[in-house]
Amino acid sequence: MRVGTLGVNLSGLLPIIRRYLYSHSDVFLRELIANGVDACQKLLAVAPNEGLPIDPTELKVEILVYPAKRQLVIRDNGIGMTEEEVEKFLTVIAASSAQEFAQKYKETDIIGFFGMGFYSAFMVAEKVEVLTQSYQKGAQGVRWIGDGSERYEVEAAERPEGRGTTVTLYLAREYDEYAQVWKVRQVAEKYARFLPIRILVEGSSINQKPLWREHPTTLSPEDYKKFYQLLYPNRPEPIFHVHLNIDYPITLQGILYFPPLRPDMVIERNTLSLYVKGMFITDQLSELLPSYFELLHGVIESPDVPLNVSRSQLQVDPTVRKISQYISRKVAEKLKELAEQNRAEYEKIWESVGPFVKYGMVRDEDFAKRVREIALVRTTEGSFYTLPEYKSKVAGMKDSRGVSVGFYVNDPKRQGMVAHLFTAKGHPVIVADTVIDPYWISYIEGQESIRLLRVDAEEAARWLEGEQSEDTLTIAETQQVKEALEKLTGLRIEPQAMGKEAPPALLLREEARRRLQEAALQGEVVPPSRLLFNTQHPVYRRYLLSQDKRWLEHVWDWARLLSGDLQEGEVKGFLQRDWALLLGS
Ligand code: ADP
Repeated sequence: MRVGTLGVNLSGLLPIIRRYLYSHSDVFLRELIANGVDACQKLLAVAPNEGLPIDPTELKVEILVYPAKRQLVIRDNGIGMTEEEVEKFLTVIAASSAQEFAQKYKETDIIGFFGMGFYSAFMVAEKVEVLTQSYQKGAQGVRWIGDGSERYEVEAAERPEGRGTTVTLYLAREYDEYAQVWKVRQVAEKYARFLPIRILVEGSSINQKPLWREHPTTLSPEDYKKFYQLLYPNRPEPIFHVHLNIDYPITLQGILYFPPLRPDMVIERNTLSLYVKGMFITDQLSELLPSYFELLHGVIESPDVPLNVSRSQLQVDPTVRKISQYISRKVAEKLKELAEQNRAEYEKIWESVGPFVKYGMVRDEDFAKRVREIALVRTTEGSFYTLPEYKSKVAGMKDSRGVSVGFYVNDPKRQGMVAHLFTAKGHPVIVADTVIDPYWISYIEGQESIRLLRVDAEEAARWLEGEQSEDTLTIAETQQVKEALEKLTGLRIEPQAMGKEAPPALLLREEARRRLQEAALQGEVVPPSRLLFNTQHPVYRRYLLSQDKRWLEHVWDWARLLSGDLQEGEVKGFLQRDWALLLGS
């Protein structure tokens, strides 16, 4: 046996390694599996030149656990190492790459998507033993033992399996979990199931075919669905997918799935996974891709993603930008294709696709330009219009400055009755009830030179104005009702002829103030600022004749009921008065 000292100063390294582990547990296993896979692939690469008869299907990386001994073993039948190589690779390269990593990690907010290699074993192990034998003819087996310090031992040793490498981790007590088969299987499946070399956990294979590498023309819709089930077991079927495949100016492959979304659904995070050379790297892609992609499911694989840089570097990295531009373009193209091929089907999936498209438009100017023509609005009556279609629909309606005006509801149940007054007059009302809609509405206003007013906005009311008729209150009568209502409600009262069928009164709110409050996410309901009273509603004649104030109180409660402002405690009084008035008592 020979005792050696690493040429690299490792002092202070372990605490950093362990700190890294704290937020990135499991990655040591990824690194060790990656080494085993590399070793197999290196063997495949040298085999033809060396005249070695290697059957690629024989190559494997095995993971074995010994819970009682607190040991975890990663064993491959790859290229192996000679004693010289052990010295060079494990004591120079491995140690210095670990040191370099730790140094960077300490100094910057490095993401460490690819970690520190072999030395990450010391994240979880008190002692690591490597037993290896090179593929070279007549090579001797070598045992290397280290404890994470500069000191290590090397000796010649027999490797019963012959060629390959066995790494045995003597786990620290707090990491004995990694000697449990369920745990290592979970981690291995997460990181390594799409690798091109066989991976066995306690004898059973975990490999799956990376479908995204296949050519789309060779795949059936069923294949894509099955693959989705593999990635996201027990989930509702995706609505459609986009197969990504590009070689220039970046290399990227992947499959993106659109999950069914509903307005009330909680948005899941981390549903899109990044792979590099078949290895899972991360599902936290917020630094890599625009945030609206987080609504999608699926996988992307690219060797071009920089893996050990800082977060701030990642954000300005030109390759990363190209990747997101490419994905955004492909997704927009697919949406366009769907919209153009079958409009009826496209309208059906809009509920799921809409939030993504809207979020994307608000966040990404290029994406917005690409999908502008196929972004839909749905009306309270269930019709769909593209933005250009909606604009031409409301082209005749202009405000005092000549800007087109449209209407929307953000709570169709609550504002439905008021919305109906608009649709009855032929003004389509947009339903804008998803989380992204407040931003989207403002965005559209900015881009499309249109103003969108919620149906209970102060300014919206004038579009409900009806023709004057003999039912309309006279000026004197209007004044009387106005004063009485003012006294009762404390609000500004506005008379307007709206037709006999329209409600007696409507509450109006200041649109700008309401939006500000919503944008600040204060959640409070902005109180109404005005009461519009319908000078053609017959109730006012009853009031004027009887001078019974209950008619006006009823109008007031009614208006509040209509807009959802009537408090629970007030409903009882309203109902009692309702019966009394109906029965004439
Ligand atoms: P990296 O893999 O990034 O080069 P590592 O620290 O993981 O860094 O490993 C250092 C070197 O040790 C590798 O480049 C490889 O040559 C050698 N090595 C590690 N594990 C194995 C293995 N299982 N079989 C053969 N060689 C290995």
